[in-house]
Amino acid sequence: NSTRKLAVVTGANRGLGFEVSRQLANNGYHVILTSRDKAKAQKAAETLQNEGLSITFHLLDVTSDESCQKLACFIQKEFGKLDVLINNAGIFLDLRYQGNRIFDTQIEILQETMETNVYGVFRVTKALFPLMKAQKYGRIVNVSSGMGQLTHMEGGYTGYRLSKTALNALTRILVNELQINNILVNSVCPGWVKTDIGGSAAPRTPEEGVDTLVWLATLADGSPTGNFFRHRQPIAW
Ligand code: NDP
Repeated sequence: NSTRKLAVVTGANRGLGFEVSRQLANNGYHVILTSRDKAKAQKAAETLQNEGLSITFHLLDVTSDESCQKLACFIQKEFGKLDVLINNAGIFLDLRYQGNRIFDTQIEILQETMETNVYGVFRVTKALFPLMKAQKYGRIVNVSSGMGQLTHMEGGYTGYRLSKTALNALTRILVNELQINNILVNSVCPGWVKTDIGGSAAPRTPEEGVDTLVWLATLADGSPTGNFFRHRQPIAW
């Protein structure tokens, strides 16, 4: 494992996180597949191990500081570095409610959504960033959404929209403040993908949905940072 590049994927027990773990491992990475539920993490990791892939699992709840610290300590001890972080874990609570109009939305929905989709990314990145900084190499991929694009902002789904716009801002702040050579941080919209969040009407398969995520995770030195991509092309914020 020590010769392989190391990737961490959040929310990897299903959906896009599971598929991006598979594809990164297929690209020669060792992947730490994380999930907030140990049994789910173990089952997902076993599925990919049975495909001959270099995968281990670790517990990670992105809403818990302690959980993030435990993961950071584990990686420091076992690997001493981190090459790729895919901030994929996300929730779409507005979907559960009728109407989804702005004043139908309870403040708790906004708070809970921000806790996972934005503060969760902040927490995980803060805990794991030192493992990239130490080796002056890193690729951070923030899984956002077209629903967070300010330039195309529509009504409905307030919690989710706010969270993904804020996540995009976090991408920009990270890049502008850290300015660390060769740590590239980008936001990505996977398109509309068949998963629990995307629903069965979505046109894209998870295999197609993770294409740009894998591309951003494996960018060559000197590649773009601080951008928002869909289908491997920059899109408006
Ligand atoms: P899924 O609902 O299938 O997957 C979401 C994953 O996030 C699950 O593994 C879930 O774990 C995990 N998760 C939720 N909360 C936490 C937490 N607190 N800690 C750790 N993991 C957590 O949906 P997708 O695969 O579609 O979603 C992946 C990302 O893609 C999300 O950020 C989503 O917003 C984004 N996206 C998806 C689109 C689509 O069309 N599918 C479109 C645009 C963006 P658990 O199983 O325990 O619930």
